[in-house]
Amino acid sequence: MPTYEYHCKDCGYTFEINSSIAEKEKKEKEGSLACESCGSPKVEQLFGGFSIVSGEYLKSSGSSGGSCGCGGEGCC
Ligand SMILES: [Zn+2]
Repeated sequence: MPTYEYHCKDCGYTFEINSSIAEKEKKEKEGSLACESCGSPKVEQLFGGFSIVSGEYLKSSGSSGGSCGCGGEGCC
């Protein structure tokens, strides 16, 4: 059975769940995945690296835009 690693955005707790892919996807759809430490539903899956997390971070910081309104393209 595969293991999935999750990280809680609220308290920073990292935990693993063991379940089938179908069960995991069902839980994600239902939104019933929650942090084992604080119970927050704001959990993100870790994929054995930080490329996904850093990609998300870059995307979110780009959408907020730079101070000049360039959208974070690097002119400022
Ligand atoms: Zn938590």
